[in-house]
Amino acid sequence: MDFKSVLDEWPEARLRAMFDRVTTAQVEAALAREDHTIADLAALLSPQARPFLERVAREAQRLTRWHFGRTISLYAPLYFSNLCAADCVYCGFSFRSGIRDKRLTLKPDEIRRECAALAARGFQSILLLTGEAPKVVTVDAITEAVAIAREYFHSVAIEVYSLDTADYERLVALGLEGVTLYMETYDRDVYSQVHLEGQKADYDYRLDAIERAGNAGARRLSIGVLLGLADWRIDVLRLALHAKYLQKTCWQSAVALSFPRLRHTPDRFHVEHPVSDAEFVQLIAAMRLYLPEAGFNLSTREPAGLRDRLIPLGITHMSAGSSTKPGGYTERGVLALEQFEIEDHRGPLEVVDAIRRAGYDPVWKDYDHAFHGPDGP
Ligand code: SF4
Repeated sequence: MDFKSVLDEWPEARLRAMFDRVTTAQVEAALAREDHTIADLAALLSPQARPFLERVAREAQRLTRWHFGRTISLYAPLYFSNLCAADCVYCGFSFRSGIRDKRLTLKPDEIRRECAALAARGFQSILLLTGEAPKVVTVDAITEAVAIAREYFHSVAIEVYSLDTADYERLVALGLEGVTLYMETYDRDVYSQVHLEGQKADYDYRLDAIERAGNAGARRLSIGVLLGLADWRIDVLRLALHAKYLQKTCWQSAVALSFPRLRHTPDRFHVEHPVSDAEFVQLIAAMRLYLPEAGFNLSTREPAGLRDRLIPLGITHMSAGSSTKPGGYTERGVLALEQFEIEDHRGPLEVVDAIRRAGYDPVWKDYDHAFHGPDGP
């Protein structure tokens, strides 16, 4: 059964009915269980679970320490192009934002300089990003960027447009470790309202892309929804179903989740389903109970104080000292367009200090290709 069939089994009405039925006793029962069903997760995400938040948070902390120890892995995003032929109404890179003179695609020697700058700051794990401009930033260009990054970093992941299995295989053969690909929202109607042009408008092709990456051998698969696009509780339940599905079908890969919240958006887009700080904490802690072995990523979209408070609640990977524009780690990107505004402006060493103050160890390197022989882990 493919994931589309799984989603078909969970129409919105069925998911919503679970929230409508939640009782305090159900929240208590969900908290008492070790293995959680999707109905348990709905109970833990529901408003009725708010009075139990401290208990959910304690359990989230226990599970995270059990599975990951007291460690937080550090990574940095590296944008190598902000060209985009797609029109996603919430994104600053959309071609309709029209800011042509701030568009930039780094040349190989410029990517090299960005990699050197990040490596000099201590990073050993990097996420390469582009917009969706496959005629300019071709699969060959992505391949070249991965090859360059592999010279500097132990772990290289990409967050680019959806690719075919053969393209993922080619990148994995070069040493690509991870693929990050957010569905943004699993709600088909909302999806088509906010993704107006470009390959990304093809819901089904995007839905399957992360599984193609897993089948191609990517060892870390990161998925997420853009919180604020649709009813977050429904989207998070579907995200949880997707994570469980990938853990079964791509069992050789580690599945990780991100919870990007829409905060600063172009004028033409209004965030209709904002997620409050309290709801954000609740959803991360609840997801930890449902997915105790999944990595949880936290980017610099969130402010420093909140990021620090989330460290013990289930987060396993944090970006630090990030730039969301190409050339942002060298003088090259001074005038380049950025994808979104960063909220945590601290440098990597300040984030390292904050992690240590929280009683955790910052980890610069959590992956080595020697972990995997030619036949897998
Ligand atoms: S979200 Fe990605 S594909 Fe969509 S406009 Fe932004 S960069 Fe382009």
